[in-house]
Amino acid sequence: MSINLRGKDPVIIAGAGPVGCTLALYLARQGIPVVMFEAEAELPEDLRASTWHPPTLDMLDELEITEELLGTGLKVPNYQYRDRRTGEYADFDMTVLSDATRHPYRLQTEQFRLTRIVCRILEGMPHAEVRFQCTVDNVAQDDASVTVTINTPGGREDVRGSLVFGGDGANSAIRRKAAIDFEGFTYPEKFLVASTPYPLEEHFPGLAWVNYIADPEEWCVLLRCNNLWRVLFPTPPGMSNDALLSDDYIQGRLHFLADNDEDFEVDHRTLYNVHQRVAKQYRIGRILLGGDSAHVNNPLGGMGMNGGIHDAVNLAEKLMMIDRGDANDDILDLYDRQRRIICKKFVQEQSIANKKAIEAQDPESHKKQQEKYMKSAADPELSRPFLMRTSMIDSVRESYEIT
Ligand SMILES: Cc1cc2nc3c(=O)[nH]c(=O)nc-3n(C[C@H](O)[C@H](O)[C@H](O)COP(=O)(O)OP(=O)(O)OC[C@H]3O[C@@H](n4cnc5c(N)ncnc54)[C@H](O)[C@@H]3O)c2cc1C
Repeated sequence: MSINLRGKDPVIIAGAGPVGCTLALYLARQGIPVVMFEAEAELPEDLRASTWHPPTLDMLDELEITEELLGTGLKVPNYQYRDRRTGEYADFDMTVLSDATRHPYRLQTEQFRLTRIVCRILEGMPHAEVRFQCTVDNVAQDDASVTVTINTPGGREDVRGSLVFGGDGANSAIRRKAAIDFEGFTYPEKFLVASTPYPLEEHFPGLAWVNYIADPEEWCVLLRCNNLWRVLFPTPPGMSNDALLSDDYIQGRLHFLADNDEDFEVDHRTLYNVHQRVAKQYRIGRILLGGDSAHVNNPLGGMGMNGGIHDAVNLAEKLMMIDRGDANDDILDLYDRQRRIICKKFVQEQSIANKKAIEAQDPESHKKQQEKYMKSAADPELSRPFLMRTSMIDSVRESYEIT
């Protein structure tokens, strides 16, 4: 199959999420014509990803946007694993990664900060177009091109492209229309995220800006993002969404976490289903998947969006090899192998293990896990390999070793 990225048919990107935007900007910066279709009327501002790992910041730096992104959030050089009952905590210092990354810290900022920056840059590029209120509804391909059908306020439209990237999230129309299985499972419980300006740090001595708090009865994650504490809890299966999102329920959970005489101010509340799924293929001919359309995982460890951005960069590099004549389209199968295998081996395994560790109910395994974290945080020889893995540096490096 011959792929001409500079012909009359642009690269089509479905979905202006962080992953689609990264691919769009990478290709547009190389002069490749791109069109990105977004179903919503404007960029979604849902509160999902807030943690950006070092290799992601390194990659976005190559696209010259890390500096601006850093200006929107908080640099977090250390993070903690805490035992809620004993108050003990393991504090991991990410500066031990200084020789492996230009950004030895996590950035805490909302995912929509990236999409806003990217779409603003694309607006100024004549060969890049972002079209809102365009819902991708179908995809077909032949030897020479791909045709994507979109629903727009003006009616249905067929658009031809050199290839299409499904950056259209977990419920991807591209994945469904290409009949690609999304194998895995959905947890019975939903996750509740509530944001509050209340100074939770006053209740937990030495609290970092990113904290995983284990407890056999009520674990949670505390993340600082733009002057708010974002608190993530699991919820009991079987309760209605209305009950879980009610003031009473949320106040009860927050009071259990940090006893307080008054009600907490709650600025946002959202309920999420949690899945562990990976697409069976990331490529069929001219159809490619990446980000949540290709894989979803629980948010413990902050790896979904980061892994998706790593997909986008890996794919863009391979497309540029095709463009330069250094590879033929078989290289896109290597994209599939590198990113799908690493997702299963690393992101899926690590996120499932993170959930098991934080929710452990047996007091003995709970205690052992906390001791392990504390031992490793206290010794750079142990914390470095741990941080190389959890900050996703290892997974990016290992993905390129897959042939
Ligand atoms: C509570 C929570 C916290 C999280 N925290 C983190 C974190 O800290 N770090 C991390 O790495 N990940 C985190 N994640 C995961 C992260 O949010 C996702 O992995 C990330 O949003 C995936 O990006 P994406 O661009 O692939 O898809 P999305 O962000 O879902 O974007 C898809 C885009 O496509 C559009 N779209 C959908 N269907 C169509 C269609 N048919 N046609 C056109 N457009 C369409 C949507 O409107 C959207 O703009 C978290 C998730 C949750 C739920």
